[in-house]
Amino acid sequence: MKDISVKALAKINLGLDVVRKREDGYHEVRMVMQTIHLFDRLEISKNTSGEITMETNLSFLPTNENNLVYKAAKLLQDEFAIKDGVHVWLHKYIPVAAGMAGGSTDAAAVLYGMNQIFDLGLTREELMERGVKIGADVPYCIMRGTALAEGIGEKLSKLPPMVKCPVLIAKPQISVSTKFVYDNLKLGSDMVHPDIDRLVADIREKDLYKIAADMGNVLETVTIPAYPVIADIKDHMMEHGAVNAMMSGSGPTVFGLFDKEATAVEAYEAMKASGLAKQVYLTSIYNNARK
Ligand code: ATP
Repeated sequence: MKDISVKALAKINLGLDVVRKREDGYHEVRMVMQTIHLFDRLEISKNTSGEITMETNLSFLPTNENNLVYKAAKLLQDEFAIKDGVHVWLHKYIPVAAGMAGGSTDAAAVLYGMNQIFDLGLTREELMERGVKIGADVPYCIMRGTALAEGIGEKLSKLPPMVKCPVLIAKPQISVSTKFVYDNLKLGSDMVHPDIDRLVADIREKDLYKIAADMGNVLETVTIPAYPVIADIKDHMMEHGAVNAMMSGSGPTVFGLFDKEATAVEAYEAMKASGLAKQVYLTSIYNNARK
């Protein structure tokens, strides 16, 4: 096989708690990760140039070693002494710098795709071991589905599949740096933490209403005061029938869960008309694990 087309799916966090700041500066987290059916598409091909090259529809993205696509390709090229070149066409649809693991899922797709086209014979677990060298979220993006992520996000426990429901995604036209969010997080005794164990129990029970009630993201305590548009988007989704709405990751993307497709479609149209968000997508929960 010479060429492959791979989907790179985005994630949302149904729950995100920060347990503590470690001495090495990393934050220990507990996150409930969920794949959604919103994706980039990567066309990966091999050639005889020996080089790693890429192009993308988003002109502001780096196409050099700063792109996680490049890093993933280089990692496998070096480890397996691959003499061939690799070219990746990245069709980018997942909002960038948005809390949806866009770069990580692209890297995961490259590892998966190169394993196929170069017949490397790596198992999913072996790909995940390579992935963590690129980023803490990459192993999860290789695995997909519903999972509890602990440690710095790399310690994964698979959970039963999340209840299927429509998911509305809205990203305002602001950039929020992940570093800013973590640097400004105050983990004092008055911090209200989401109950991640209860959320996991709700997922096991497959009760969308309980899941919605127990969703929580501790990083909103930093982003909402700094960027009130995030609260405006959440309010807008709630006013249009979401069972709950919350920021994903370190933001600024907000997602809303809905119990009826018709309500979600109405909320999607209203969000687009509101001008609150630059990118608006109506998508759904995706539960298939990668083989
Ligand atoms: P996370 O949810 O893991 O915090 P994110 O959604 O906040 O991720 P990304 O979309 O992965 O963030 O991108 C963050 C930065 O990484 C961008 O500003 C971009 O310059 C750089 N980057 C490198 N590779 C990619 C890629 N393949 N897609 C998007 N951004 C990339």
